[in-house]
Amino acid sequence: MCGIIGYVGQKQVKSILINGLKRLEYRGYDSAGIAVLAQGEICTMKCVGKVAELAAKAQTHFPYASTIGIGHTRWATHGNVSEKNAHPHLSDGNYFAVVHNGIVENYLQIKAFLLEKRYHFYSDTDTEILANLIDYHYRKAMQCSFGEIVRKSLLHVEGTYGLAVLSSIFPDEIIVARKSSPLLIGLGYGENIIASDAAAVARYTQRVVYLNDEEIASIRSDNFLVTTLREGVVDTVCHNLDLEVRDADLAGYPYYMLKEIFEQPSSIENAMRGRFTEDNSSSKFGGLSLAPQELRSVKRLLFCACGTAYYACLAGKYLIEKYARIPVDVEYASEFRYRNAPFQSDTLVFVVSQSGETIDTLAALYEAKRKGYTVMGITNVVGSTIARTTDAGIYQHAGLEMGVASTKAFTSQLTILSMLALLFARQRDMDSFTGQQYACALKSLPAAINEVLQSSKQIRHIAEKYCNQKHFLFLGRQVMYPIALEGALKLKEIAYVHAEAFPTAEMKHGPIALISEQSLCIFVATQRELLEKTVNNIQEVKARGGKVVAIINDKKYIWEELCDEVIRIPEVHGGVNPIVSAIPLQFLAYYIGVTLGCDVDRPRNLAKSVTVE
Ligand code: GLU
Repeated sequence: MCGIIGYVGQKQVKSILINGLKRLEYRGYDSAGIAVLAQGEICTMKCVGKVAELAAKAQTHFPYASTIGIGHTRWATHGNVSEKNAHPHLSDGNYFAVVHNGIVENYLQIKAFLLEKRYHFYSDTDTEILANLIDYHYRKAMQCSFGEIVRKSLLHVEGTYGLAVLSSIFPDEIIVARKSSPLLIGLGYGENIIASDAAAVARYTQRVVYLNDEEIASIRSDNFLVTTLREGVVDTVCHNLDLEVRDADLAGYPYYMLKEIFEQPSSIENAMRGRFTEDNSSSKFGGLSLAPQELRSVKRLLFCACGTAYYACLAGKYLIEKYARIPVDVEYASEFRYRNAPFQSDTLVFVVSQSGETIDTLAALYEAKRKGYTVMGITNVVGSTIARTTDAGIYQHAGLEMGVASTKAFTSQLTILSMLALLFARQRDMDSFTGQQYACALKSLPAAINEVLQSSKQIRHIAEKYCNQKHFLFLGRQVMYPIALEGALKLKEIAYVHAEAFPTAEMKHGPIALISEQSLCIFVATQRELLEKTVNNIQEVKARGGKVVAIINDKKYIWEELCDEVIRIPEVHGGVNPIVSAIPLQFLAYYIGVTLGCDVDRPRNLAKSVTVE
């Protein structure tokens, strides 16, 4: 959720830490801090708010020269957002500094134990106990190595952590450890950099080692050693990041979210590249690694995901059931993990997560694997925990997504799910001609999306006109219902307004009570076959004084006079229609957020990848 950065080498560490934190800021944060070792002492600086504020403060108030240090962006779980609760946290006596992502679940017991040993605490966080626990184990066995001290301490810790520890007693070394919260080591020459996210190290090196759960590593400028918490040294594998630093630049756009909306023709093209059969009648995924016979024998699909990815899966359900006729279940990963859901053995499980680190989705993955299912992953981040833990999977290839509110990752997930619908359909009852029409529609997606992008000005105007409405209701039928859900989520996330979504016909079963002059209903009405019924629902809203924006195909309809605004988008094949229809809703949320003065790239309380429970 929050971010960790650390460096040991020859260069001045302050700017490396601050730059790293800026790269991590997109993940969610409320405060930030750094600790470096200067003249044998740990010096810290913390700040509530943006990393830019920490950077400004560090420029004038942090004169320390150092080549080793750690930094953190916090997303508070325990203790309010304040300077005293920001990381790094120091042990009594200032010998150890800790930054931590995750939650120490038994912190109250450990704190009680340490209080008895006369340790003091200054923050309300769970994290602070780690610094004192490490100090306690140091004093108990002073001959031990730094890594050994941290290892012994962590044996007492329940919960989740990605953490980094700095010590004035061990001035050349940083210790990092991980349990359910990502951490990687970027390998340099005469320097090493650690981070919770590849985006923070890509600028310095493309060679990384990912820590696995319950691994702990000692990092020095010229070497590193990984061991497990219980069993000894681990053979590590070095991965190549292949991450362009350029991805993280704004390229002239005011916000990453807008940039990423406009990137969708190419992110979708990348999701499809090389993934059609030669005769163009089906799709293929190198990563799926199941023989056609095995795929053919799948009787049911189960998708587990959270947030936006969950809505993508819900749309995928409509497409796969419609075209491939395979029953699909979609579960919130956070629910599935604790639910002893009965599933048949011929069910194929997919977990879907942009970051590949979503903790609930990971837990669902472990639960499904424990039950013996084959689990596939759909993720955007190469080398992420989900990518490394699933039996096989599909990369989205959407490029780095910086906007906390997902846009291009959502549509690339939809594209992959639509291609899965085609693949499964062609293995069952879809003939090759129909398959070719479907594949052709997929291939035409970038052009269709380019057309929708032309409507940005019109949608901006609509957003400015209606941004002060009190309720926003998003309505869609069938596969457009999940698209409506995503539209409402986007608006809540970045504009902090009340937004809900319903299957269009459900409105009269309750939500219609909300309709007044103060409400704006956004109808996703791009399915021609369902239009007539939707027009009735539009009438019902108008009869009660509500305002209506309808997203419709590029046809002229007599009834469109009824609507306050219409947004036209190209009429496309049903298998790709949800993808095209999602784009106007992204614009609407973006422009309402901007008009209301929200920082759409850094929405309050949210994190890009949710790595705490
Ligand atoms: N639980 C810790 C805290 O609230 C860490 C939160 C985080 O992951 O940033 O400080």
